[in-house]
Amino acid sequence: MRDNVEEFDTKKVIENFERITTDAENVQNETLKKILEENASAEYLQKLGLNGRTDPESFKSCIPLVTYKDLEPYIDRIVDGEFSSIITSEPITAFSLSSGTSQGKQKRLPWNDELFVTTVHIYQTSFAYRNRYLPTDVNGKGLNLIYSSNKLPETKDGIILGTATANVYRNPGYKQTMKEIHSSSCSPDGVIFSPDFHQTLYCHLLCGLIFREQIQFVAATFAHSILYAFRTFEQNWEELCNDIKQGVLSSRITAPSIRTAMSEILKPDPELANLIHTKCLNLSNDWYGLIPEIFPNIKYVQGIMTGAMEPYLKKLRHYARDVPLVTTEYGASEGWIASNVHPEIPPELASYVVLPQIAYFEFIPMAQLDGTQGDIKTVGLTEVKIGEEYELVLTSPAGLYRYKLGDVVKITGFYNSTPELKFIRRSNLMLTINIDKNTETDLQLSVDTAAKYLIEEKMEVVDYTSYIDLSKEPGHYVIFLEISGEPTDELLAKCCNCLDKSFVDPGYTSSRKVKGIDPLELRVVKKGTFRKILEHFVSLGRSATQFKTPRCVGPTNTDMLQILSDNVVNNYFSSAYS
Ligand code: AMP
Repeated sequence: MRDNVEEFDTKKVIENFERITTDAENVQNETLKKILEENASAEYLQKLGLNGRTDPESFKSCIPLVTYKDLEPYIDRIVDGEFSSIITSEPITAFSLSSGTSQGKQKRLPWNDELFVTTVHIYQTSFAYRNRYLPTDVNGKGLNLIYSSNKLPETKDGIILGTATANVYRNPGYKQTMKEIHSSSCSPDGVIFSPDFHQTLYCHLLCGLIFREQIQFVAATFAHSILYAFRTFEQNWEELCNDIKQGVLSSRITAPSIRTAMSEILKPDPELANLIHTKCLNLSNDWYGLIPEIFPNIKYVQGIMTGAMEPYLKKLRHYARDVPLVTTEYGASEGWIASNVHPEIPPELASYVVLPQIAYFEFIPMAQLDGTQGDIKTVGLTEVKIGEEYELVLTSPAGLYRYKLGDVVKITGFYNSTPELKFIRRSNLMLTINIDKNTETDLQLSVDTAAKYLIEEKMEVVDYTSYIDLSKEPGHYVIFLEISGEPTDELLAKCCNCLDKSFVDPGYTSSRKVKGIDPLELRVVKKGTFRKILEHFVSLGRSATQFKTPRCVGPTNTDMLQILSDNVVNNYFSSAYS
């Protein structure tokens, strides 16, 4: 039966986007005006003396640049139940908890319906351009790897503490929006809104197989979830086939709400079970092309695939074979930023176009932060320069004003008069002992370089992280690698030297030469260690949807350090500077 869904007007959305991006400066000023008018009575703005003014100059002169830490006292008051106009005129009744994977600690970020409206803008924009390039059918389905709790945590005063994605899914307009952009999930709500991530994932896969002919895309917020799902598939395909053959759900699914939801869908289908079984037997050598083999009508695989997700692209391509990988959007729990309107470009080269109507954006030139002292001056959305790097500053419709997001972006061009940007890195340094300065990107480059030796031997880095070991003077870098296959000691020693040599920051190389930093240590961890880290993260009640492997483990992240240490199988010290 065909659902009665209005056809999405791709042309209209694209025309609107062209208009808005052409008039970006005015749209930005209007966006700021609207945010400030709507929140004129907020204590935060009043206290800083804005006095109802809404122009960019007054705004910038009255309101300081802030970080999350500066806003915490206000957020604490709201979470503690003070129901008044603290940061927005309409009191905040929900928060999004950030993943906490990039900086360790979870931030509580204000959420309101205005942010849902911006979510719709972002989804529709990315979809319109994707659909023009890779059209899908309005009645098709997607294997949408999304996870939401069926009961979001609340404070005693009823303030919701969800994740940004959970706040989106619980919005009454969510399902209709997804239908309109041809993105209905093959899994029923009882599977998506569940008490258990593992059971949901198993049933997502099962639903995907049952609706395999109708699946047009595989999606997740972050690419890591897609990889995790297909790695899980490799381990569970026989059980999945058995469920389909018998029409009986595995006893591993214990949540009554999931069992009820699946009972409507799962019927004995030996023919389908045999077909998938045969395919999996043929594929099980290396699972190359798994995605198109099980989903014959798939058009693309989509999710955020840049930044911390790039290390997973190789494996994702292995599963996807010739199915295009499309990176989707750029955003954070604080608010959305930009859409990918060039779906034909591979994720490694992709840029995102900022949506000027969803927030007010400012940019701090990195050159300014790196050197000169004194007042930090921001530039506006349309004033940025191609090729320059900036730290992003956001004013959102949910009560964040001139908020430093902590991301560094590079301007790669202009789409009409709106900048296109690439995520470069988190702004904080990750690896530093004395004068050395290495970022997440430097670490990724170093791991990528060393991984080439493994690739030559048909092995790969499954995942990685790092740690600064200061237990012995003068301290050294530790890189944890999970590797597929069985590399020899000789190969791993070579990788270790290569990791060390590939950090080319002069502060690091000079410190290494004068023994101001000890030799880099490679610690190889057991297979499945990073899976355990995700599982631990989920067991703390955090959302699997937003999981990003922390690329540096701080000394306070004792749980993760413990998991890593418990699973080390071998360690090597670099002799690169001996
Ligand atoms: P969270 O709020 O914890 O879900 O994480 C948001 C952070 O994820 C952002 O501040 C970025 O650092 C990162 N992120 C989100 N989207 C992208 C993207 N498209 N490319 C690279 N990094 C991203």
